[in-house]
Amino acid sequence: MTIHHEDANNIYVQATLVDRIHIHYECPFCWKLKNGRIVDNPFNKKTKRLYMSATPNKHFHGSAGDLSNRTEHRLSHCLVNSEKGVFIVINENTKKLN
Ligand SMILES: [Zn+2]
Repeated sequence: MTIHHEDANNIYVQATLVDRIHIHYECPFCWKLKNGRIVDNPFNKKTKRLYMSATPNKHFHGSAGDLSNRTEHRLSHCLVNSEKGVFIVINENTKKLN
């Protein structure tokens, strides 16, 4: 489950996975379609229907080889909403791949 707490400058998200290279999280702002397109809403604006292939898009940030529980601050990679920084929460709900 994505933490989606937000303050004036940052959003807070749940890390889904951490490995020696990356921290992964599902972005609360963008979805990926089967054709690879990134959209800002899982609903088709014309038909008002849910895109069948929409899945939460994942963003990746460097983990510095650290699998421990912590909160990491990063600048957002999001193409839809990058105005705020991101606090990525790595905790007991984060899958850890050594
Ligand atoms: Zn995003």
